[in-house]
Amino acid sequence: MDSYTLVIVSALASIIMAAAMYLLYRASPRAACLLDWSRAGLFFLASNGIALLAQHGAQLPFVIVPGVANVCYIAGHYMIYAGVRRHLGLRPRFDWLLLLMLAVLALHATGFAHVSVSQRLIMLTPFVAGINLGTVWLLARQYDRPAYLPLMIVEAVFMLQLSLRALLLALGRPVTLTLFGNQILQTAGSLAVLAFLSLATMCCALIVIRQQELALRSASLTDSLTGWLNRRALLDMADGAFQRHRRHLGSGETLHFLIFDIDHFKSINDQHGHAVGDAAIRHVTTVAAQALRGYDARFRIGGEEFAVLLGGDARLDPREIAERLRALIETSPLLVDGARISLTASLGVAACAADDRHWDDALRRADQALYHAKRSGRNRLCVHGEDLQPAILARSA
Ligand code: GH3
Ligand code: MG
Ligand code: MG
Repeated sequence: MDSYTLVIVSALASIIMAAAMYLLYRASPRAACLLDWSRAGLFFLASNGIALLAQHGAQLPFVIVPGVANVCYIAGHYMIYAGVRRHLGLRPRFDWLLLLMLAVLALHATGFAHVSVSQRLIMLTPFVAGINLGTVWLLARQYDRPAYLPLMIVEAVFMLQLSLRALLLALGRPVTLTLFGNQILQTAGSLAVLAFLSLATMCCALIVIRQQELALRSASLTDSLTGWLNRRALLDMADGAFQRHRRHLGSGETLHFLIFDIDHFKSINDQHGHAVGDAAIRHVTTVAAQALRGYDARFRIGGEEFAVLLGGDARLDPREIAERLRALIETSPLLVDGARISLTASLGVAACAADDRHWDDALRRADQALYHAKRSGRNRLCVHGEDLQPAILARSA
């Protein structure tokens, strides 16, 4: 492929990058990083467009070709980095971009830049490699590696080939580059840009698609009123926790189900209305969170009924946590328009036993304990196997 064709194909790849990212952005406007990546495509297009004009014999001053063309090329790389920053919740830092563009333009005024294409490649490589390295560095520190790995590889490979070409030229190997010549290093570089543009477009799209999938999954497992996990999440997570617990039987690790239900909640709805009822549910979860440990998985499993998975070792005292929770709810009234609405909850706790076949067995026992707490007068805790023996159950059945 001659260099003219390569520039045209690269311009097309830039258009595809700009258009694809923009269309994806229109479909998901909350992913603003797509707009940065679309701008990256536009910068690459501007760079290729100026090169094409020059190839057609347009008499452009040195400041435009290669000056502005190279500035746009570096800005394209920077916009990919900026999009990654924005995606990760960091400021994109367009002030850095401006400084970078001015610095690159200023370098084109030096004698070094005027010597040859090879000199300019050597001059620009640290900029591009630095930006690529910044992108890889940011992504490498993220937890969700599978989504980021493709872009990390594309950026790293591009950086390596660019650095290698610059190194060969700096070492004075007998290769010369001309602006539109078809020497091997020039052609390899153009092909690398083409591959980079095509692959980076796909990798950026992949990052956003993965992010949306995670957001959707998280929304489907979260209760919108309280922010706690929902019943569906309990079905997902309890099984995993139960299987882990079974694998470590005998090691002293314990798994308890704690469930609680707000007392006489219907009367709150009836007296104050449904909106205050909702506020009471939110209030109870906020208060309960203070009594629980940060890593206890908590679920809203019914209207005003909640479950908590308490994992720990033999030192864990679920009674202590549950009692703290009960007391905190009792002493934290809900304030509505200056009025204090007292709330209490009843709680049931049960441990997963060695002969349980399913986590549901333990949940059922916790439910029986809760039922017993309600029947015993409410605003109290009942621990299955301690406050509630099977014999009591048999009698009350
Ligand atoms: P008990 O002490 O026996 O638990 O009595 P209770 O009145 O709390 O009875 P129950 O637990 O059966 O109350 C459930 C009520 O919760 C029924 C329903 O109207 C109300 N409820 C369920 N979901 C919601 C909700 O999302 N918002 C509001 N405001 N009320 C809800
Ligand atoms: Mg209730
Ligand atoms: Mg209830």
